Formats: sequence, C-alpha cells, structure tokens
Amino acid sequence: MNTGAPARINVMKPWLGAEEAAALAEVIESGWVAQGPRVAEFEHGFATAMQAPEAVATSSCTTALHLALVVAGVVAGDDVVVPSFSFIATANAPTYVGARPVFADVDAETGDLTAETVAAALTPETAAVIVVDQGGVPVDLAPIRALCDPLGIVVIEDAACGAGSTYRGRPVGAGAEISAWSFHPRKILTTGEGGMITTSRADWAERARRLREHAMSVSAAERHASLVSPPEEYGEIGFNYRMTDLQAAVGLVQLGRLAEVVERRRELAGRYRSALADASGVRLVGDPAWGTSNFQSLWLEVLPEYPIDREGLLVALAEAGVSARRGIMAAHRQPAYADRDTGAAALPVTERLADATIVLPLFHQMTDDELDRVTAVVLEAGRFRP
Ligand SMILES: *Cc1c(COP(=O)(O)O)cnc(C)c1O
Repeated sequence: MNTGAPARINVMKPWLGAEEAAALAEVIESGWVAQGPRVAEFEHGFATAMQAPEAVATSSCTTALHLALVVAGVVAGDDVVVPSFSFIATANAPTYVGARPVFADVDAETGDLTAETVAAALTPETAAVIVVDQGGVPVDLAPIRALCDPLGIVVIEDAACGAGSTYRGRPVGAGAEISAWSFHPRKILTTGEGGMITTSRADWAERARRLREHAMSVSAAERHASLVSPPEEYGEIGFNYRMTDLQAAVGLVQLGRLAEVVERRRELAGRYRSALADASGVRLVGDPAWGTSNFQSLWLEVLPEYPIDREGLLVALAEAGVSARRGIMAAHRQPAYADRDTGAAALPVTERLADATIVLPLFHQMTDDELDRVTAVVLEAGRFRP
C-alpha cells in the first residue's frame, strides 16, 4: 500500500553485501565453522589496522571487557572507575569479577571521562579505570594515564564504538595497555555479534586466548591439526567466549572497507554540521582537539533555549518518518544499579546529556535527500514559538 508517506529513515543500517555472503559460503564449504584460521586471520588484520601488538577475538565486547579485567588482575573487592554515561555493559563488566563499578562524570563537550572526573572518583581500592570513546569520540587518554600509571591503576579502553577513530594521529585503543572492541551491528564494523581485545602485553594476550577457550592448554584448532593430539589440561576456570570463523570471515570483509565507511560517515557528519550551522538551541557533537571521530553515534544536544525539549524533537522527527534515538544512557539510573553502592558522587553532566541528547540517523547508504529531511525537521522545530 502506498500511503504517500515518505519512506522511513532509520537511525542506523549495517552495510553488508555480496562479498560478506561469498566469504560466509567459503567458510561453510571449508567444513570448519568454529574458531579457526579465519579468526586468526581476522585477529592479525585487526591488530595491524589498530596498530596493536596483539589481538584476541571474542564473542562480544562485553566478554572482551570481562577478560580484560581478569587478565589485568582486577579481583573481588576492587573498585573500577567507569562512566555512567555509556552502554550498560561498561558498568556490568567489573561486577562479573566481583569488583565495584564507581561512576565518574563526563566532559560536557565529548561525553568522555577526563583526568579530572576520574580523579574525583578514585578510591584507595581503585584497581582499574574503563575509559570509553563514546559514540566514537576519542577519549583524551594521555592525561588519564598520567594520573593512573603512577598509582598502578590499569587503564582499560572500551573502544566498542571506536573502530576508525583516531587519537593523536593513531587509531584509538593503541595508547591503552588493553582495549575492547565491539562488532555488534549497531557499531561500525560488524560480525553480527563479536568482539576483540587488543593489548600491548603479550602475557595478557596469551592468558586471554586461553581463558576465552575454557582455559584449555591445547586449542581446538591445534587438536584438530594433529592426528594424535596431546592431552589437554585446564589450569584455571575459563569461559567460552570464542568468535566463530563464520563471524571472522564477515569481519575480514568489513575490516577491508572500514576506511571507506568512516570517510563516508565523516562526510555525512560534515553535511549535518553545515546544514545545522545556523540552527540555534542545538549542539552537534564534533571532533575534539586531540583526534577524529568515526561518528558511530552522531549526537545532538537539545539546549534549554530550543523551543521544544528532547522528547518533543523525537516526536517531531517520528512524525516526519525519521527514527532518531534518545542519546547515550546513564547506567546509574537503571534499576540494576539502584540499590548498589557505586560511589555517591553527583553526575550532573551525565544526567544532562542523557536527558537532552538524541542520536541522528547516519549510515553508509544514507542519501543527501534523507539527510536534508532530517535537518529540515530540526530547523523547523527550532523556529516554532509556542
Ligand atoms: C555496544 C557497547 C558495548 C557492548 O558491546 P557488545 O559487543 O554488544 O557486547 C560495550 N561498551 C560500549 C561503550 C558500547 O557502546
């Protein structure tokens, strides 16, 4: 039925095609679909692209964060400073090892932790900090490491959103001792589900490799390679956090087009910026002084002087067939954390951004026409005076 209504514009669309399908078919024909040669190849390619000495593929970023905390030596009773302004997995990961997530506030411009907000959240029990490149905006890592390194506090980078973003001329994640990545379809490079650890520590990588595979001394791939395999041993309690070769084959194709995808996203973000340059009452997230964003989530802050609030703008966009989304969540407001002791600090910037931001549609295949439809709503709603 054609109602004459304009086609719906989604907030995000993964860019998958014939090349991914062909790569999958090849894996199926090979007869080896679990973690194997494709995963190894994907790890190698990802490590090279991210300028990381080691990469360990996992089933998700959430499981990558869990393993990162384990290999970094975070244990029950430790505190881990995290932003509340993040997807909830960032805060959940420390709880998996019995540690306490302690929420820190974020910078009003970038939505990322800063050395100041981290310093305010440190306790004598702090063993690690998880910094996030929120929505792809690179965190200013150096001052945070300058604060934490002398105190023996491990800085873990949750680069779930960060593939293709840069910090001081290098890929994000490269400056942390250990980083975690996501390949969920909501992120820029997808394997359906999937994640990765990158690290400069060979010993951490080796332990993470074993832990993701039940802490088995002989990997399934190694056992398969020999007719009489050596007896395996389980030195500690591990997990099944493996990626499959099916996922890795898709990831390799996606990795090959990461640069092109990021270039297009930055071009679209630039168009949004010009179109909204004269719009008063809204602020679009941009590149910080220290790096470039992949604009995984291009968010817009609805300021108090805008005629309608965030919810009103979401309704106006929905009426025009545009599916925008509320911005990044605040984990400390979720029921899961309501009754937990997570440090008592006020988080005014987190709460303001969580209440006043929306994520604008942005995807590789987006047309100029579609983008104009979105900005027209934002401009029109901004002119309205009740
Ligand atoms: C998406 C996301 C995660 C979780 O990633 P999964 O691969 O879905 O587990 C963790 N942290 C941040 C900041 C995210 O945006």
